[in-house]
Amino acid sequence: MSQTLPDSISPALFAERADAVADAARELALSGWTPATSSNFSMRVDADHAAITISGRDKGKLGRDDIMLIDMQGKAVGTSARPSAETELHTQIYRRWPEMNVVLHTHSRTQSVASRLFAKDGVIRLEGWELQKAIAGQTTHDAELLIPVFPNTQHMPELVAQVDAWIDAGKPLYAYLINGHGIYTWGRDMAETRRHLEALEFLLGCELDLKRLSA
Ligand SMILES: [Zn+2]
Repeated sequence: MSQTLPDSISPALFAERADAVADAARELALSGWTPATSSNFSMRVDADHAAITISGRDKGKLGRDDIMLIDMQGKAVGTSARPSAETELHTQIYRRWPEMNVVLHTHSRTQSVASRLFAKDGVIRLEGWELQKAIAGQTTHDAELLIPVFPNTQHMPELVAQVDAWIDAGKPLYAYLINGHGIYTWGRDMAETRRHLEALEFLLGCELDLKRLSA
């Protein structure tokens, strides 16, 4: 796969971002959170571009050549490769929040089951968990952290509109689930975003255990 870069982006910068995305993807695949080539990962390169996983690649074997450049409309830049089918959900985050630099999307079993179980409520209310503090800006367990669960669709503009509607209603948004599908979360850098993803995976697992044990 050949990637031609715009003059404004140095090969070293793109390689650094591509390596960061590929490294994260391989590590998350090891956790079993990216079954059957699912999931997608991206990192901002500059105000107008991001590096994102190419569609359909095995996330456990990802390398620099499996990452491509897109613009903030989700269009391929300087390559004939096809970005993830869900690219618009990544660029939406970068467009809405210039301070966000990484978007991670996985399909773990815990995320998938929790999304089905809470879909009828449209939201998961996390409250009383110490690990809520792993989410940027959260300082206490004694607060309600809402994770919306949006209906799944193969028509990306519908999903984008649901996310926009939530944000436009003035509700805080740190992550969201898509029913029967997986989770999206983001952050200012890779470490923060990995922390969000790991905390949410843990918290969703705890909520599932509580349901199971209190049935
Ligand atoms: Zn997905």
